[in-house]
Amino acid sequence: MKKELNALAADLAAYVRQLDEDTYMLPTNAAPKAAASPAKEKKTAGKTGDARAEMAALAEEINKCRKCQLGNSRLNAVVGVGDPNAKVVFVGEGPGFQEDHKGEPFVGRSGQLLDKILDTVLGMKREDVYIANIVKCHPMSNPENPEAHGNDRPPTPEEISACRPYLDRQLMLIKPKCIVTLGSVATKVLLGVTQGISFVRGKWYDYPVELFGPGHPIKVLPTYHPAALLRNSNLKRDTWEDMKMLKAFLEKE
Ligand code: SF4
Ligand code: URA
Repeated sequence: MKKELNALAADLAAYVRQLDEDTYMLPTNAAPKAAASPAKEKKTAGKTGDARAEMAALAEEINKCRKCQLGNSRLNAVVGVGDPNAKVVFVGEGPGFQEDHKGEPFVGRSGQLLDKILDTVLGMKREDVYIANIVKCHPMSNPENPEAHGNDRPPTPEEISACRPYLDRQLMLIKPKCIVTLGSVATKVLLGVTQGISFVRGKWYDYPVELFGPGHPIKVLPTYHPAALLRNSNLKRDTWEDMKMLKAFLEKE
């Protein structure tokens, strides 16, 4: 399984390498089929192990990890936060300055907005969901200076490939019903799509890695990254619609 995940991660990283982050309309035949509708069947399998203890063990491993260069410059690895038995996992790109200092995802301005969205649309707190990132350590443009502000850069394909297995291990522990990808990097990495986020958002997909065997796909709902909403408040309306889709899905599950 580990070998397959690594191979998949390498494929996805190769995809991302080819992408122009700003290209929003690439050929539609490359689009994955949006799932007809989210799974109606209730899944009761799993959730028997002590997810909290297993997550703590995984966190210890991640805290010591040096599988990529980000391990040398981080102040803290940022494993994830929330309920290890959550029905929904939100996945961002990678920690920034605040997250690196605190060791918790989405604690800066984007995080405050994410908390507000969770609260106002879903009536939930970060403790009720699980929040993680594609890479667990802060990608810095100047790795010599973790104290500098404005020192963020996107993760490289190599960093994404190195870190990817941790996210799948988290998903295997949590066994969520669905994943919400926040922004284009998380969406491209997890779904392998080539289109931009404005094209793929607001539809349900199946997670291409069958972590729980055939016929039990985790549903994936891409939406905008909260940082994009801070830059362009016109995107809020669509994000609210996406979160209402999530709410309806969670109410059915
Ligand atoms: Fe390890 Fe991921 Fe941190 Fe790289 S980013 S050092 S792979 S935990
Ligand atoms: N942006 C992300 O993608 N993740 C975080 O944890 C914080 C900001």
